[in-house]
Amino acid sequence: MTLSSSSYDVLLVGGGVMGCATAYYLLKADPRLNVALIEMDATFARASTPLSDGNTRLQFNIPENIAMSQYGLEVLQTFADDMAVDGDRPDPAFRQQGNLFIIDEDSREGALEGLAQQQRLGCAVEWLTPEQVQEKYPIYNLKDCVGGTFGRLDGTMSPLAVLLGYKKKAQAMGAHWIDGKVTQLLTEAGRVTGVQLASGETLTAPVVVNTAGAWAAELARTAGIDLPVLPIKRQVTVFETPVHFEHVLPLLFLPSGLYVIHEGGKHFMAARSFDDDPITTEDFEWHRHHFEDLIWEELVSYIPVFDRLKITGGWAGLYEVNPFDGNAILGEWPELKGFYLENGYSGHGFQQCHAVGRYITELILGQTPTLDLSIFSPQRILDNQPVFENKRKII
Ligand SMILES: Cc1cc2nc3c(=O)[nH]c(=O)nc-3n(C[C@H](O)[C@H](O)[C@H](O)COP(=O)(O)OP(=O)(O)OC[C@H]3O[C@@H](n4cnc5c(N)ncnc54)[C@H](O)[C@@H]3O)c2cc1C
Repeated sequence: MTLSSSSYDVLLVGGGVMGCATAYYLLKADPRLNVALIEMDATFARASTPLSDGNTRLQFNIPENIAMSQYGLEVLQTFADDMAVDGDRPDPAFRQQGNLFIIDEDSREGALEGLAQQQRLGCAVEWLTPEQVQEKYPIYNLKDCVGGTFGRLDGTMSPLAVLLGYKKKAQAMGAHWIDGKVTQLLTEAGRVTGVQLASGETLTAPVVVNTAGAWAAELARTAGIDLPVLPIKRQVTVFETPVHFEHVLPLLFLPSGLYVIHEGGKHFMAARSFDDDPITTEDFEWHRHHFEDLIWEELVSYIPVFDRLKITGGWAGLYEVNPFDGNAILGEWPELKGFYLENGYSGHGFQQCHAVGRYITELILGQTPTLDLSIFSPQRILDNQPVFENKRKII
């Protein structure tokens, strides 16, 4: 048997939103590039992007995280036109319902620091007193609340529509789509030279980008790189309430990290991370009792009308958690030339795909980055210099 080998300028391992957005930005910057996306499951059944909640927020503490979301909002304004292919305009169905964070005494300092950064950068985020929150949203029971931060431009959209928008556009611009699993990064004298697929086929390229999401560490390990990215299961439960809400409520974040998203009318979804959430790439089972036993009581304590509700379903997906500091890992791995990382978003990566796609493109092409994201450089891991959002918390 003869196994074939093909050459590219850039190989993107993983065709989720990161891979597809980066392919788009690469070809936008230089249409002559020979770019390929390699994806082990073109149905995206387990990919995090379609299993995400599709939320974007300006409410971060690190200025670069805020700036990435600001750029994302800019992109969304013309996304349908920019991604149009043969007259097909992908609709991200962006619902700017606002995000409301309930702040308790413990989270007050970090929230105020974040708010100051956001306002300094011109973000539409405001502080609400408990009375103001209560007046706007009488259904909440604001126990232990010292205030709220409300970002009216934050919102939720269809992550699949964004992924497919980038994918179709990148393909229309010339990106190759290769169905296959990368089983080995190929290296020579401290440089990446390509990848090997499960089929045995090899693809060569001077640049390989790790866009493998929750599988990022598994991929890096094939070149002996120990990347701090863990696949962690996150369950989301969908339910209906007996009350039909006329106006869409903001996404509500509670101090514990529990959040509830109003989809409109009587439709909601809720989720929360726990310290003992399983590390897995195999367990995608959603359990109704996860919500009933661990989430419902806390939810009712803040929203008493939720004491009666009908669970209609749910799903589980993978967070790509960076246990080192909970932030993205972006850039060339210092010990392997040509191997670029777009990993470790720890649950807030979907909204960063636009800024990351543009940034990694600029790094690969040797251009000055429009938005300097070097704070998230992989070098910080080797230097043991974590960058936390606030209070050393991973959110
Ligand atoms: C329940 C849930 C809710 C979330 N909510 C939000 C949110 O509201 N807002 C937000 O910003 N983020 C959210 N996220 C996080 C967000 O989904 C991710 O940060 C983002 O989708 C990461 O995109 P990606 O392209 O890196 O990963 P993925 O979408 O997982 O794509 C990676 C792809 O790589 C492929 N792959 C992996 N290894 C290989 C290999 N060896 N060879 C070939 N292909 C390979 C996989 O099949 C996969 O398709 C959420 C995540 C979950 C699970």
